[in-house]
Amino acid sequence: MKKNLGTLCIHAGWKPKKGEPQQLPIYQSTTFRYETSDQMARLFDLEEAGYFYTRLANPTNDAVAQKIAALEGGVGAMLTSSGQAANFYAVFNICGAGDHFITSSNIYGGTYNLFGVTMKQLGIECTFIDPDWDDERVEQAFRPNTKCIFGETISNPGGNIFDIERFARLAHKHGVPLIVDNTFATPINCRPFEWGCDIVTHSTTKYMDGHATQVGGVIVDSGNFDWDAHSDAFPGLTTPDASYHGLTYTKAFGRKAYITKLDTHIMRDLGSIPSPQNAFLLNLGLETLHLRMQRHCENALEVAKWLQQRPEVLWINYASLPDNKYYALAQKYMPQGTCGVIAFGLKGTRDEAIRFMDNLDFISIVTHVADARTCVLHPASHTHRQLSDEQLREAGVPPELIRLSVGIEDVEDIIADLNQAFDKMKK
Ligand code: PLP
Repeated sequence: MKKNLGTLCIHAGWKPKKGEPQQLPIYQSTTFRYETSDQMARLFDLEEAGYFYTRLANPTNDAVAQKIAALEGGVGAMLTSSGQAANFYAVFNICGAGDHFITSSNIYGGTYNLFGVTMKQLGIECTFIDPDWDDERVEQAFRPNTKCIFGETISNPGGNIFDIERFARLAHKHGVPLIVDNTFATPINCRPFEWGCDIVTHSTTKYMDGHATQVGGVIVDSGNFDWDAHSDAFPGLTTPDASYHGLTYTKAFGRKAYITKLDTHIMRDLGSIPSPQNAFLLNLGLETLHLRMQRHCENALEVAKWLQQRPEVLWINYASLPDNKYYALAQKYMPQGTCGVIAFGLKGTRDEAIRFMDNLDFISIVTHVADARTCVLHPASHTHRQLSDEQLREAGVPPELIRLSVGIEDVEDIIADLNQAFDKMKK
């Protein structure tokens, strides 16, 4: 039976049978027992599916991955211990030393550094492009060794909307997949696979968890990219793998080739799995994701409209506001609402932004974002402080930008807190 998103949030993944726990159990065990040596050997040869070591697979983690795959409409998913690991693995699964990829420059600061600095040290180069460039300019970034394009549905912290359908078309024209970090929109508001995206990643630390309890990530495979049609570009998926007795992923696993290689090769060797306890906490968050996203969006739109009227506010970027530059794209990809995160700039100096934040009462200054509690951050002083002013501008993060992550409290209280913080600045 086909189920809607709210039902999937609750019922996808763990399906208890007679007498089994209604709530997903935490299989907090490193290993799983077999009765004969042969039974286990067949698992190691990937001839049979089953659990033997939690770094490779764990029932709690798998149930949560299956829920997220169902929400995104993918053929499979793999949990990671953080969103950073998810983005690294998603690219590294198809990109090795000597390869190149293209990424939007409007991405989370941690991902920007991972791609621009750390992966460069591994011999993987990337070109940062402004997603607002026209097709011709974007296409100049492709090289013969380009392996994918990467972007964020809603950029953190700038709040810009990535034109998924357009970038999927450009990627496919050049025979490579599109990877989209869908953290801020969540599959409740946007399902990138419906627009041609091939692989989705998330920092599950954010809305999916929603209660600031665990750091985690996930990679979801649409199963739609035809790796064999571009066999020379993706030998890791289309030619025999020495680490699995010459098995070829596309032949053995068809549409699940990419996600199976991630699970059985990349995670086996690099090993940043979440603990089953964390996967359990994530699952609790997912059970209410559809309710929380609706409330985040309603609250944020009201706060954004209120901020727009304030004399202290220089500019505001919230794509659900009708006069926003990205409104048309937001309506196309996320007609029910974007997310709870608003970017705005205050008139005056950097110090004024900091003073405003220090005046807040229950709205807290934290590095975190996209959670039930309203919180605030000044990226130039915090998350993005490793970037130069030029890199800040490239990443769409002007120095005066304040990132307000609107929570699910009563919206009149959120506005009252912002109001009193502005009032104190007059004194
Ligand atoms: N992707 C986005 C859009 C993010 O906002 C973040 C973190 O803020 C990450 C990835 C990295 O995720 P994590 O902090 O879970 O490693």
